[in-house]
Amino acid sequence: MKQSVKAPAKINLSLDVLHKRPDGYHEVDMIMTTVDLADRIDLTLREDGLISVDVSEGFVPNDEKNLAYQAAALLKARYHVNEGVSIYITKRIPVAAGLAGGSSDAAATLRGLNDLWQLGLSLDELAVLGAEIGSDVSFCVYGGTARATGRGEIIERIASPPPCWVILAKPPIGVSTADVYKRLNVSAIDHPTTEHMIAAIEGKDFDGICHHLHNVLESVTLDLYPEVRNIKEQMRRFGADGVLMSGSGPTVFGLVSKESRVQRIYNGLRGFCHQVYAVRIIGSAGS
Ligand code: ATP
Repeated sequence: MKQSVKAPAKINLSLDVLHKRPDGYHEVDMIMTTVDLADRIDLTLREDGLISVDVSEGFVPNDEKNLAYQAAALLKARYHVNEGVSIYITKRIPVAAGLAGGSSDAAATLRGLNDLWQLGLSLDELAVLGAEIGSDVSFCVYGGTARATGRGEIIERIASPPPCWVILAKPPIGVSTADVYKRLNVSAIDHPTTEHMIAAIEGKDFDGICHHLHNVLESVTLDLYPEVRNIKEQMRRFGADGVLMSGSGPTVFGLVSKESRVQRIYNGLRGFCHQVYAVRIIGSAGS
């Protein structure tokens, strides 16, 4: 028995950090949406009860450090599942890029195994389990567009933004999310007005969305890696309507409403950056 599941990347349209909590996590307020750049997870039932993971990409761990492995192990232990699974991940999402690739693989594994192992869990139940693996996994269980608060695991789904193109450009550096949060000076943050972003999304106001793009982690990553600032400038120069770094970076995305402009921006950025993708926002969850 086999199951194939898509694990789409996310971008942050808004990312605010409110304060550092006594438990060491940061209290965040994020607007996230999925885009149609996805890993593929192939799950094959194993009668021997073992879990194995293999990945198309050499830099990604193929043992218990892989978040998809952790998702399978968690489900198996929590629900006393006798069967095992072979997980094969075809990686398309750049790694350590601010696009939640690992979290999305874990979420897709939870969804796929819920079917393959016939557990009958709801998305809400899977999202709660996902939070034990990582803060972005809960959002990735649902996909679509949502506001994520708490340490990222409290999910309130919102309407999807109007259809548009998203150009992603990742410079050849990997960023440690933990390191960026450690360097963030929480008392000096210029906070976004998250409510304005939500109103723009719900009003299908593309210009309003571009206007309210804001990520408080940008200041840290842009200081550490000037090439990210350079890509932001190039993305604007080639004609993207709105430009922001996703998550802790280093991937920069540009929102583009006119299809006729996409090729020019894509080609322009390819001159600076090897990893460039032209994708679309995936409207709502499950689409
Ligand atoms: P986020 O946006 O949630 O901070 P990210 O996109 O910056 O995540 P990932 O691509 O998830 O980062 O990778 C971060 C690290 O997680 C990698 O360096 C890798 O070693 C580890 N990892 C574990 N499982 C996976 C996986 N399935 N895919 C990619 N990386 C994984």
